[in-house]
Amino acid sequence: MLDAVDDSRAELVTFLAELVRMPSVGGTDAENEAQQHLAGAFDRVGLDVDHWRLPLPELLAEPDFPGVEVDRDEAWGLVGRLPGNGGGRSLMWNGHIDVVPPGDAATWTDRDPYSGRLDGALIRGRGACDMKAGLTAAFFAVRALARSGVPLGGDVLLASVQGEEDGGLGSYALIRRGWRADACVIPEPTGLDIVPATAGALTFRLRVPGKATHAARRTSGVSALEKFWPVWRALAALEHRRNATVDPLVARWDIAYPISVGVVRGGEWASTVPDALVAEGRLGVALGEPVAAARADLEMAVAQACDADPWLRDHPVQVEWWGGAFAPGTLPPESDLVQRMSAAHAQVSERPAQTWAAPYGSDLRLLTNLAGVPTLHYGPGDVVQAHAPDESVSLHEVLDCTRTLVLLALDVCGVRAATVM
Ligand SMILES: [Zn+2]
Repeated sequence: MLDAVDDSRAELVTFLAELVRMPSVGGTDAENEAQQHLAGAFDRVGLDVDHWRLPLPELLAEPDFPGVEVDRDEAWGLVGRLPGNGGGRSLMWNGHIDVVPPGDAATWTDRDPYSGRLDGALIRGRGACDMKAGLTAAFFAVRALARSGVPLGGDVLLASVQGEEDGGLGSYALIRRGWRADACVIPEPTGLDIVPATAGALTFRLRVPGKATHAARRTSGVSALEKFWPVWRALAALEHRRNATVDPLVARWDIAYPISVGVVRGGEWASTVPDALVAEGRLGVALGEPVAAARADLEMAVAQACDADPWLRDHPVQVEWWGGAFAPGTLPPESDLVQRMSAAHAQVSERPAQTWAAPYGSDLRLLTNLAGVPTLHYGPGDVVQAHAPDESVSLHEVLDCTRTLVLLALDVCGVRAATVM
């Protein structure tokens, strides 16, 4: 069966290049079109296809909905099922079809962020690494299994989801629709390492008040920009404190749980002291830390900074939580998925797979926390490439991932001939 993977190299390159050429940025029509495109591909290899329109208003109103950061009036779920004979464990592969915007095309060497160009052993373009390569590997793995006719005990499910980058809409929707598996692999870029846990991330907004006046008399006003400064320093101190002792799984990162301010807006006239500043940022949530505790930690740090400043004591900074909320997630320790994944990997690659936790949030936490599905990340590509210009993925890693997923399915789902009644 692994020979079938080797033989499909050219087709795999074409398939991945086609996916990369679809600019499926979250919230665009292309995101829906890419799902449609994949639904056709799933159908052609003989999977049972569930391609359904998501009931967006209903989902967004759920109390545990993880949040969105882009507007959509249409979105689709997609699960392809290769049915087993029964008796074996089921295995899901879950990948997101949405990509983040490419930024200025001039910063890309190709000038075309969606080239999908094969450059030596690399495929280039936005989403090549994060994570159309992983989706492609999973698709070719399920195709090899389907074509081989090997009777699997449990089902193999291939899910393509939208809205992962802005909160997890698609995986939330498939869980609400009732899709479950005994184990799940998300082929996010891990460089074929095994990632059984992800930290969380929360999006916050700070509103810093000031008092406007003519710049020529600036001392009779209060600059919101100057009042942001002690708050910013408090956030830096908080980041330092929250990273003083961390789980060994995240010890490889210089800052496992970063706090970063990504947007600052303030002022409207060069000669006016700014009366308001808005800062938006991202708070890293530690492995195992409740989201509410992380929020309280930041709110407390901001409140203490305000208490120490005469103006802010009377005009405190407001903290809002908005956008995608990524709780941390961890594969349950009793799961044998890490052992099975590394055994499958060892049959394909001479480089031992390392095990670590990712410093970013992903759909893993929805599958482990909401659906109770033991989940890990294992996929082709280096995450440094993700969200960056000149994103690319190594074709060798895509092929190795395909092979490993085939072997994992044979192991987890089991090979069983159909019982003749
Ligand atoms: Zn991703």
